[in-house]
Amino acid sequence: MNIILVGPPGAGKGTQSKILEERYGARQIATGDMLRAEVASGSPIGLEAKAVMEAGKLVSDDILVRMLRERLARPDCAGGVILDGFPRTLPQAEALEALFKETGRHLDAVIVLELDGDALVERIAGRFACAECGAGYHRLFRPTRVKGVCDKCGSTKFVHRPDDSPDVVRRRLAAYNEQTSPILPFYEARGLVRKVNGMAPMATVAASIEEALRRSGVQARQIAV
Ligand code: AMP
Repeated sequence: MNIILVGPPGAGKGTQSKILEERYGARQIATGDMLRAEVASGSPIGLEAKAVMEAGKLVSDDILVRMLRERLARPDCAGGVILDGFPRTLPQAEALEALFKETGRHLDAVIVLELDGDALVERIAGRFACAECGAGYHRLFRPTRVKGVCDKCGSTKFVHRPDDSPDVVRRRLAAYNEQTSPILPFYEARGLVRKVNGMAPMATVAASIEEALRRSGVQARQIAV
């Protein structure tokens, strides 16, 4: 299965991607995570991307397309991919189409998570992650089991993304509306778009995505009992 998850910042793309990885045996490719790793390592790409990301703008198409091309060639992508955060511009969508054609990969569906603006601000304001292992949490929707302690690694240190501040979130939303929503007609013309209500609770959204994928001819894995 190869799909794209589209939605504004805070829509829950990362959370849903993780659920889909389990259900469909495909690999999540999150370009935001890849860029944050580049920034953390101080690589040339990271140095170039850091200021752009902190300003809530989009990193150049050239860098993104090159990064994605390399990532998709790795063996762990052979069983399919869930693209989370890519493409974000029309040139990226066109480059992806060419890349899929070149490598014989078939795009099954483009899942669009729809939410209203106020909900996004609330969702983003509550996000935090473990400083040690990167596990993601939310103050209201996904708190740690024990207050102040990471469920996965036991660490007590947590961080907020620097680009989750209200000012930067507004600019990221503007980038989504101006640069990313124009990719929807591109995929609508190919009959690939499936819209899902992203305002519902996490499990309901996951079920709606599964139903949308079934309509696109993609079945979840059978889970052995
Ligand atoms: P995300 O984690 O998906 O919200 O991405 C965080 C930031 O990384 C974005 O606000 C952009 O600055 C950058 N970024 C991630 N994916 C892309 C992309 N496909 N094109 C351009 N910039 C991106």
